[in-house]
Amino acid sequence: MNIAFIAHDRKKEDIVNLAIAYEHVFKDKKLYSTGTTGARIMESTNLKIHRFLSGPLGGDQQIGSLIAQNEMDLVIFLRDPLMAQPHEPDITALLRLCDVHGVPVATNMATAEILIRALDRGDFAWRELVEQNKPGLA
Ligand code: PGA
Repeated sequence: MNIAFIAHDRKKEDIVNLAIAYEHVFKDKKLYSTGTTGARIMESTNLKIHRFLSGPLGGDQQIGSLIAQNEMDLVIFLRDPLMAQPHEPDITALLRLCDVHGVPVATNMATAEILIRALDRGDFAWRELVEQNKPGLA
């Protein structure tokens, strides 16, 4: 079960609080993040996260490539709806890929909580079926 964390600057405190609150759910999963988001979460928890580049430098695209290969099961992407981002095209592309590949994605705390609780209950077992039926890379 692979999970990606991304948070824009004014949402970083929220994602850290989420990671602290649900550390027990995340601790046995494979975790990925953009650069600063992952650093902030690891400072405050015992979670181990593979950090990609910072979002504006291409981190969203790196996570997008895992989504395109169907290697991401859940994306927590707390974006800032009130602040223009220099990498807006990358953000749109990431969300589009989640829709193309049917990957659950939370863009706010309320949805994130619901998805994480569902994950904890085992509701994401269908993602493992997707994994089993995944066509090989050409
Ligand atoms: P960051 O990138 O975690 O490196 O801040 C997130 C973003 O702004 O897209």
